[in-house]
Amino acid sequence: MTPFSLAGRRAFVTGANSGIGQAIAQALAAMGAAVTCAGRTEATQTVAAIRDAGGQAESLHLDLSNPMAAQDLFAGQDYTILVNNAGIILREDSMDYPEDMWDRVMDVNLKAVFFTSQAFARALPQAPDAASRGAIVHVASVLSFQGGIRVPSYAAAKHGVAGLAKSMANEWASQRINVNAIAPGYVHTKNTASLTQDPSRYEAILQRIPAGRWGEPDDIGWTAAFLCSPAAAYINGAVINVDGGWLAR
Ligand code: NAP
Repeated sequence: MTPFSLAGRRAFVTGANSGIGQAIAQALAAMGAAVTCAGRTEATQTVAAIRDAGGQAESLHLDLSNPMAAQDLFAGQDYTILVNNAGIILREDSMDYPEDMWDRVMDVNLKAVFFTSQAFARALPQAPDAASRGAIVHVASVLSFQGGIRVPSYAAAKHGVAGLAKSMANEWASQRINVNAIAPGYVHTKNTASLTQDPSRYEAILQRIPAGRWGEPDDIGWTAAFLCSPAAAYINGAVINVDGGWLAR
């Protein structure tokens, strides 16, 4: 078996009905994991695609606008992979940004990431012989490093997510729990629809990407599969840019 295999593992992916989460669920399943596709919208299409490809998947309703919603989902379930992918972006000028938009973004994008990870880690099986007992991947953003425009709560939350990958790694690496984050650049999903529908903004972003193209969800999916695998057992607290070189520029 290659060190990239996820055969025999159970994985839990939040926000797996569309976009990056869907691609992550499919990549994990392709590498052999049985994937629970959790989210506020039924992951019917993702589950069907995985099963059609011969993989294992199920859909689970989970609304992380209550950041504590996943508290009871891990005990006794043998999950060893968690991908915190669910996220929202709400745009408004910082001068006018209202408290309810701030709170909604923080709850899903940051508070839920922490408390879902905590519940997952508490429930991890002991697995005394494994180099890694479990893997957690947070989906951060290039806005974990940059400020963005009209997205103050999103940038603050994503900076926080990068911090959580590091702080959790510091505490949990010694317990053989690998915590890392992926910072996607600009990826074609419904999260970026307002940018793709604005030709001048789309082109301006494209011109700044060294790879000369926007990202696709699969670009993130395969990186997540690697980070969850035994091949990444010595990677702790990393925030890996998958951005076509955006941040290198
Ligand atoms: P997306 O297609 O809109 O996916 C977001 C996912 O999160 C959806 O499944 C969505 O469910 C789910 N979600 C939102 N609120 C939720 C809640 N309260 N409870 C449970 N699930 C919830 O956009 P995406 O681009 O793939 O985003 C996935 C992640 O990548 C996000 O964390 C985002 O910040 C991050 N990211 C994206 C980009 C990009 O360029 N696209 C760049 C950097 C980082 P619904 O379908 O029900 O809304």
